[in-house]
Amino acid sequence: MAAHLPPVAGSQQGFPWAWWRAAAAQGVPGIAVGTALGGRGGDQAALWALAERLGRAAWPPGLAVAGLFEALVVHHYFGQADAPSDIRDALLSGEALAAVATSEPEIGANPKHLATRAERRGASWRLSGVKAPITHGLDASVFLVLAVTGEQSGRRRFSVFAVPRTAAGVTVEPLSGPMAGHARVTFAEVELASHALLGAEGRALEQFARPFRLREQGLLLAYALGLAGGLGDAIATTAPVVPARLGEAMAPVAALGATLAHLARQPEADARFEAVLTGALGQLKAAQDLMLPQAREAGVARESVAALQQMAFFLLRGQTRGHDRLGRSLINQTSTQGV
Ligand SMILES: Cc1cc2nc3c(=O)[nH]c(=O)nc-3n(C[C@H](O)[C@H](O)[C@H](O)COP(=O)(O)OP(=O)(O)OC[C@H]3O[C@@H](n4cnc5c(N)ncnc54)[C@H](O)[C@@H]3O)c2cc1C
Repeated sequence: MAAHLPPVAGSQQGFPWAWWRAAAAQGVPGIAVGTALGGRGGDQAALWALAERLGRAAWPPGLAVAGLFEALVVHHYFGQADAPSDIRDALLSGEALAAVATSEPEIGANPKHLATRAERRGASWRLSGVKAPITHGLDASVFLVLAVTGEQSGRRRFSVFAVPRTAAGVTVEPLSGPMAGHARVTFAEVELASHALLGAEGRALEQFARPFRLREQGLLLAYALGLAGGLGDAIATTAPVVPARLGEAMAPVAALGATLAHLARQPEADARFEAVLTGALGQLKAAQDLMLPQAREAGVARESVAALQQMAFFLLRGQTRGHDRLGRSLINQTSTQGV
């Protein structure tokens, strides 16, 4: 597949639209969308397999992750027959870009603290709140906004709305500092038609937000698995190799591959999926701890080592917290092109 994708451009400013349209012509956004809906008919396993392959072929995270992330968004939010077909078609053609707007400034994505709300006004909705950081937010045509829409048995209920960038009351601002390139988007009393609601009212946490977070981690783990496999290949072909050390380093990579092969086939991203995913994150941590010193000693290309470091930092950041130098470099790189 990668052979048919357009060549990787050098440094990119902003979202690489020309590259993305060419990738869309090859079916990348629709890889995990049914053919009846205009997609390529693949599934999550196909998308993760592509991620692994792009990592193994040392595709840089900026482009690879930007494309994989958008394909996941189309699969997850628009892969059902009842999702708005006009938005899905625009995303599949590469003419539009969707951004996930869940997190809020100073809050993160913990649903307990999210403040964005939407209220019914007759046949329409009125949505207000602030979302940041938003990846691809500076270029997105549509924001998938998680908002509180009610309360049931003392628990807040959430819904997701597809909010066009052009709607009155939407303001997009570039973020400065460590999240430069990402966006902060303000929704001030944005009036939305009833069809802007995606899925079932009040069920967005279960239907969209929680499983998306887990599926995104799985997808990026698959890309990291490919990067680790490529590093292993590079170390194995560089003399002098210490076979015992290389074998020890590759064991968690092999285990990660087996875990992801199992997870990729799971139709539900539920609590069991999350538990297995936590194990997979541990396997990634073990793999990077053992591989990176050997890769450096073997003189493997710096970009390949940095790519694995960056993905591991992003995926394991919940365990480490804080933004060190590596974290800032990840954010600066992905700010224009992905994650
Ligand atoms: C490079 C980068 C790009 C990002 N891009 C985006 C983006 O495009 N859109 C966006 O909304 N945020 C984005 N974020 C923010 C990110 O999703 C987190 O909110 C933020 O990094 C804080 O993470 P955290 O692990 O500290 O806590 P949180 O992610 O806030 O997690 C704390 C707890 O909240 C719960 N939780 C978190 N997420 C969910 C969820 N989706 N559904 C249900 N429960 C959840 C879990 O219990 C979790 O343990 C980005 C962050 C980075 C670093």
